Amino acid sequence: MVPKTATIVIVGGVAGGASAATRARRMNEHAEIILLEKDEHVSFANCGLPYYIGGEIADRQKLLVATPEFLARRFRIDVRTCQNVESIDRVGKAITIRNLVSGETYSLAYDKLILAPGAAPLMPPLPGRDAANVFTLRNMADTDRIKAAADACVSKRAVVVGSGYIGLEMVEQLVRQGFQVALAELLPQILPLLDVEMAQPLEETLRRHGVEVYLRQALERFQLFLLLDQDRLLDFLRTAPGPNSADRDHGPLDIGRQLDRDGVQGDHAEQNDENHADGDFHRVLDRETDRIHVYPS
Ligand SMILES: Cc1cc2nc3c(=O)[nH]c(=O)nc-3n(C[C@H](O)[C@H](O)[C@H](O)COP(=O)(O)OP(=O)(O)OC[C@H]3O[C@@H](n4cnc5c(N)ncnc54)[C@H](O)[C@@H]3O)c2cc1C
Repeated sequence: MVPKTATIVIVGGVAGGASAATRARRMNEHAEIILLEKDEHVSFANCGLPYYIGGEIADRQKLLVATPEFLARRFRIDVRTCQNVESIDRVGKAITIRNLVSGETYSLAYDKLILAPGAAPLMPPLPGRDAANVFTLRNMADTDRIKAAADACVSKRAVVVGSGYIGLEMVEQLVRQGFQVALAELLPQILPLLDVEMAQPLEETLRRHGVEVYLRQALERFQLFLLLDQDRLLDFLRTAPGPNSADRDHGPLDIGRQLDRDGVQGDHAEQNDENHADGDFHRVLDRETDRIHVYPS
């Protein structure tokens, strides 16, 4: 039971975090609700990002579902952008936050803490990963970078690495923009979540649209692409982000590491009275193997 005057702090201000904040307000008119987001934008339409890059969504504003001002006005949520949550003191029920604009750190006490810091794209540790024409796609800033590069790209050639949903959406949108696209996938089929019988027709469709599909292509092949990059064959190398690709050394997973260490991760979000996990960050303890799995909820 959340006391009426509780302070509810939410880490991460997009899909899970913004939904949790508005839901909390609907359930409790009096609570202080603070939404902390390390980036500039909250509540944007992640699912629309590839379609904006490809021009199918023409208006960038349409991606911004709710602004901090809207959330403050409509739901009385204290939205703080450019605030990176650096650590959690579970015993003292407080978090440490760095204001990314001023550089200052401060602490904030909470009654309830909801963690929705999402996941981070996997970036293979390959030479060339920091090149200016290598991208991952997760947020608005990534989107703006990719769109600017795509619009300015003269060779109109791109490589997409990873054939999950996001990878395929990027392939579709790049083809739509007249790019010659190569798709590299580590496994023997595209969209590995599907049965092979279902993936096959999709692969044929890609090939019909001129996409070069490279299956079972791992590190060596990446290096080949990266070498070819010097000849400007590679204009994009992106890795498909997703919950399973969460890179524990980056971003949200700094908190993740702390949670792993402190054992806060939950069977269900409600496992712990004060801490809840949401979205791509949600983890589940597999009681058979005693291992923790990322399990978006
Ligand atoms: C390009 C793309 C297309 C997608 N398409 C679909 C789709 O069609 N259908 C679908 O179901 N799903 C889709 N997804 C997945 C979906 O967007 C995610 O499952 C969902 O956004 C997860 O919500 P979340 O709140 O856990 O994380 P996010 O929405 O990623 O939000 C997490 C936020 O937390 C912030 N954060 C992280 N660490 C900290 C910190 N320490 N302090 C403060 N803030 C922090 C991050 O900056 C981020 O803004 C897509 C994802 C992408 C990237």
